[in-house]
Amino acid sequence: AVPIERKPEWIRTKATMGPEYQDLKGLVKTGGLHTVCEEAGCPNIFECWEDREATFLIGGDQCTRRCDFCQIDTGKPAAFDADEPRRVAESVQQMGLKYSTVTGVARDDLEDGGAWLYAETVRQIHTLNPGVGVELLIPDFNADPDQLAEVFSSRPEVLAHNLETVPSVFKRIRPGFRYDRSLSVLTAAQEDGLVTKSNLILGMGETFDEAVEALRDLHAAGCDLITITQYLRPSPRHHPVDRWVKPQEFVELSDIAEEIGFLGVMSGPLVRSSYRAGRLWGQAMKR
Ligand code: SF4
Ligand code: SF4
Repeated sequence: AVPIERKPEWIRTKATMGPEYQDLKGLVKTGGLHTVCEEAGCPNIFECWEDREATFLIGGDQCTRRCDFCQIDTGKPAAFDADEPRRVAESVQQMGLKYSTVTGVARDDLEDGGAWLYAETVRQIHTLNPGVGVELLIPDFNADPDQLAEVFSSRPEVLAHNLETVPSVFKRIRPGFRYDRSLSVLTAAQEDGLVTKSNLILGMGETFDEAVEALRDLHAAGCDLITITQYLRPSPRHHPVDRWVKPQEFVELSDIAEEIGFLGVMSGPLVRSSYRAGRLWGQAMKR
């Protein structure tokens, strides 16, 4: 990818290719498998794959919503692919993963919003890969109780829904979502007995105090795990980077999130919502 804005020096990764990473890389290549990690050019791939963790995208590559930070295209989604859950479960098996994150596009075109597709993917991964954790990162399903119940019934180890930003800029950044509705999805998941997780992206126009307030709202809504990240503009068509958050601010927010009472926190310029997700889940489970 060509950098479109000058990045500060702390936005860099060390490319240390460990044995697990190299093994996984080979398996993905020979198996013709698809991961978000590779296809999005994620800078954390060396670390996550070394832990044998990876992320998959379901529902196609066209989303029915348009978020101003997201590199996924908005458009008419492809036909519904009922065989996708099986293929994802087989990829998890072939890659010998210890933990998998599954995310997808919003499918407002489908009658069930894609609830079956999300749930079935979790079920198939669990069936084919006993003991492998699944983190399911969902859109909001318009907070429809039946659709959420279908998704929750697949019992992912972690149910994630990303709030991403604060009320003052929310409408501009996520026009298809609502701040309170997103919080209500997390509340519903926690009430159903699931471990919940969310993400905040900094650098899209929020202030430090607003970020803290959003952390409080998330915790009060029943969110257990939190990742805090820096916005990187995917292309000139996307929202400009408002600011580069200093590493020290990520440390401060991490400390505040711990104080607020989150069970697990990952905070840093290169953190992604699925960054070392299994490790974060494992830490939280020990508490
Ligand atoms: Fe991207 Fe999700 Fe927003 Fe769709 S709903 S544009 S996939 S962030
Ligand atoms: Fe893959 Fe997520 Fe890790 Fe990036 S942060 S390498 S997308 S699991």
